[in-house]
Amino acid sequence: TQYGNKRLEKFSRSIELQRRASQEIPESTSSNYRGSGSYAPYPMVFMESGSGAELTDVDGNNYIDFHAGVSAIINGHSPSRQIEAVKQQIDNGPYFATSYEKEHEAAHLLNEMVPSSDLAKFISTGTEAIMSAIRLARAYTGKEKVLKFEGMYHGHTDYALVNVHPGAEDLGTRRNPTKIPETTGIPQETMETVESAPWNDIDLLEEKLEREGDDIAAVMTEAVMSNSGLLWPENGYLDELRRLTNEHDVLFILDEVVTGFRMGLQGAQGYFDIDPDLTVFGKAMANGYPCAALCGREEVMRFLESGSDKSTFMGTFSGNPLVVAAAHANLELLHEVGEQGYKKLYDRGERLTAGLKEILADAGHDVFVPKFAGFFAVHFLDGGGDPAAWREYRDIGPNTDPDAYSRFAAAMMGEGIFLPPKTGRINLMHAHTDEHIDEALEAAKVAADHV
Ligand code: PLP
Repeated sequence: TQYGNKRLEKFSRSIELQRRASQEIPESTSSNYRGSGSYAPYPMVFMESGSGAELTDVDGNNYIDFHAGVSAIINGHSPSRQIEAVKQQIDNGPYFATSYEKEHEAAHLLNEMVPSSDLAKFISTGTEAIMSAIRLARAYTGKEKVLKFEGMYHGHTDYALVNVHPGAEDLGTRRNPTKIPETTGIPQETMETVESAPWNDIDLLEEKLEREGDDIAAVMTEAVMSNSGLLWPENGYLDELRRLTNEHDVLFILDEVVTGFRMGLQGAQGYFDIDPDLTVFGKAMANGYPCAALCGREEVMRFLESGSDKSTFMGTFSGNPLVVAAAHANLELLHEVGEQGYKKLYDRGERLTAGLKEILADAGHDVFVPKFAGFFAVHFLDGGGDPAAWREYRDIGPNTDPDAYSRFAAAMMGEGIFLPPKTGRINLMHAHTDEHIDEALEAAKVAADHV
């Protein structure tokens, strides 16, 4: 379109860099999620720098960032306290293959902040933390299977890539869902160790655990479903999940990779007052640095100490001093931000979502904008039915038009507002100001006409 073409000129260097990168990197970047074409007709933008809530690309375009590093940035890009902490560690040296004081200090902070955490270990990514949690649950319970929920993404380990984003029509019955791998290359034997169920249905979960609880080591869930658009748990669902897992000697693994420190200082478990056995953090915990954590109940976590009947936890770069320094500085910063700061962040989110809803409705779009504290999703509706009644993954796909969202995200990018390319989490961070929200709403008035 004329609108798109005019703006394409602004991205000439990114276009050239993407062309060159695609000759040397499959999909022209290391995570396919960031892959090319996401913001069509615009290229994948090559970002150069970020400061606070703002980004600058290689063509010199500026953006207000609501992608927030796929939810990894909570305190804005490059807060000076964090830079100083990392620089100090760079000067001291990046890695010695020994224990070090900061590691303990960071674990101490984490254990103090997170209600269910007695002990913690650090690792590089959410994926690895989930992988370790699954193995630990198996070791602790002596059982093999893990139950996950349809529509939930828990990273890219084989054990989590089942029924992540399948076509809802391919899923089979709710009682006996078909298991669909997210990618080829996952062994059938691995698939057989993963069970899947629709989320938010306590009766189904109860049936499943009555039937198969003797084989299930853990139930793994987020507190809200954050990777398929945003769904809230039914009232009491997480409490019942806790009760049932206890009853069947099944561990409750809570994935707080997204909700942790974005939701508040205690994560979603504080908000919903739930007490999982194991919790996984990542993303916002280190504000953009590759540091994740597995933490939880002492008796279970002690299984990560060496011993022939125990589990293990390794990794040359697990708890690497550079990223642990980043996490530590970030947790301290969040302490200072405090509940008051999170309240302000929620309020800005409230204003942004209310404004977007109004602007998109005025432009003739039927949208649903569910939100959870520090992030929200924009669904363009396409199927009738009342979105307030959505409970599970199967409710979303048939009723939404994800391409319409992607067109909106692309149009917003043309206006200098950086959103995730696919329906997902639009993130607030502490670095956003009221002016950033105003600017985003002004941009939305233009973008709404180009969906
Ligand atoms: N769990 C959830 C809920 C996630 O959203 C993600 C990543 O998006 C992960 C786990 C995996 O984390 P990582 O990408 O750091 O491996």
